[in-house]
Amino acid sequence: MKITHVRVVPVKVPAAEPAFKWRDGLPGSSGPYEGAVLRISTDVGAEGVAVFARPGAATMLQDLVDRLLRAELVGQDPLRREYLWHRLWELDRIDEIPLPALGLVDTALWDLAARLQGLPLWEVLGGFRDKIPAYASTSTFANIPEFLDVATQCLELGYQGIKLHAWGDARRDAKLSQALREHVGGDVPLMYDGSAGFDLPDATYLGHALADAGYLWYEEPMREFSITAYRRLAETVRVPLLVAETSDGAHMNSADFIAAGAATFGVRISTNLRGGVTGAMRTAHLADSFRLRAEPHGSDLPTHHLCMAVPNATYFESLVTSTAVVRDPHIDANGMLHAPTSPGISLPAFIDYPAELSEFVEELPVFP
Ligand SMILES: [Mg+2]
Repeated sequence: MKITHVRVVPVKVPAAEPAFKWRDGLPGSSGPYEGAVLRISTDVGAEGVAVFARPGAATMLQDLVDRLLRAELVGQDPLRREYLWHRLWELDRIDEIPLPALGLVDTALWDLAARLQGLPLWEVLGGFRDKIPAYASTSTFANIPEFLDVATQCLELGYQGIKLHAWGDARRDAKLSQALREHVGGDVPLMYDGSAGFDLPDATYLGHALADAGYLWYEEPMREFSITAYRRLAETVRVPLLVAETSDGAHMNSADFIAAGAATFGVRISTNLRGGVTGAMRTAHLADSFRLRAEPHGSDLPTHHLCMAVPNATYFESLVTSTAVVRDPHIDANGMLHAPTSPGISLPAFIDYPAELSEFVEELPVFP
């Protein structure tokens, strides 16, 4: 089997409705914008796709395909994912490919391989479970009462934990974290995600507050550039740290966070920031070998498959971005995400696709 075509299909990604915010200093929700689907075709008709959904994606991916990827891939055996994964890192050395684009080829090749077998990706990867609890991962709301009201709605809808994305002000966020604990009681798992808003002194202050309130994990309080800063934080606060979501270098980088003693809860995995399915699975196995968790980042469809395939994952992250909470249609009334059933990975239903891609689009589950 040989790759014959590598194409970019532009797609319209709708704006989030209603629009939402992240912490102070970060852009909020975006869209509508032109995303893109990478489509890899072969001489035997087998195909694989991967969606690139972020502003600028269509322009960025078309450039990468025209300049680098088509010449690299056409004529290659699409089942040689390991070889092609290493080729991508070689191309990255000169080009510094944007991290979310670096895993697209690998993800499309895994989609192709799973479609060939007629199986959903998670089963091809070994299939550890067929459902997993979801936590509600909030966007940033206006004040403490809004957060508490959203938390009440999430728990009523079945969500099995709540993760805050708060304002990025250590003292204000500490007050919110404590208020949320008092609001939901001692048994609900709570997590906090700093979206890299702090330096070490503020991260330390907030870490003590999260420990006092019994938070399950403290995620990405600082930019993931200084592993030394993370090690110092891990030595100082009792709340377990979940790290290495956005840092470059896939498992090779996650390994140093672990070796430094900074990943006291575990590390993040995703196809879009760990170099595709291959990089995400390597990172998960790395963490497993140190008896650490590999927690899936984000709500995209490749992440659904990782959640089912990775034994040391605990939860699915389900974004809650409106004060009138609507449960993700993939999650049942008990707060469980169920394993995908269609072959391959599938493209998410919330995007508008041209007719040529309709065969790849997921069917949303129907729960009784
Ligand atoms: Mg995060």
